Amino acid sequence: MTPKDLALVAHDGKKDELLAWAKKHLSTLKKHRLYATGTTGSLLKSELGLEVHSFKSGPLGGDMQIGAFIAEDKINALIFFWDPLESQPHDPDVKALLRISVVWNIPFATNPASADYMITSPYFDKEYEEKTPDFTEHLQRFDHDRQRDE
Ligand code: PGA
Repeated sequence: MTPKDLALVAHDGKKDELLAWAKKHLSTLKKHRLYATGTTGSLLKSELGLEVHSFKSGPLGGDMQIGAFIAEDKINALIFFWDPLESQPHDPDVKALLRISVVWNIPFATNPASADYMITSPYFDKEYEEKTPDFTEHLQRFDHDRQRDE
């Protein structure tokens, strides 16, 4: 068993769903290191007794803090139950979090069904060699431009 660093976020309209999902997978979740946005983390602690590192509340920067952890290779997977029926004041942060997960090839699940698939995957408990994207071309794009001009 290789413990993973797992981030959990739920919009207000999805918090009950996330708690029900987490309850169903409690024994598995206890084996991993958990991170969450503020209110989601408090609920996971108070309702289910989970040990969670809580960031700021999502609309106050918590989504961005999780995004920064992803960019720093400190998160292996994201469970993000976002609410498609409510507009969110921090919609740009929500998009940014999903975007940075794609950038860094981080698996994310956005509803109970995909989260069930993720947490029961054989990869979840084992060592999984995530393929980190190669951004060399992006990082050197101005070097190329300069060489061409010379
Ligand atoms: P919260 O944030 O857990 O602090 O409510 C979730 C979100 O990003 O809306």
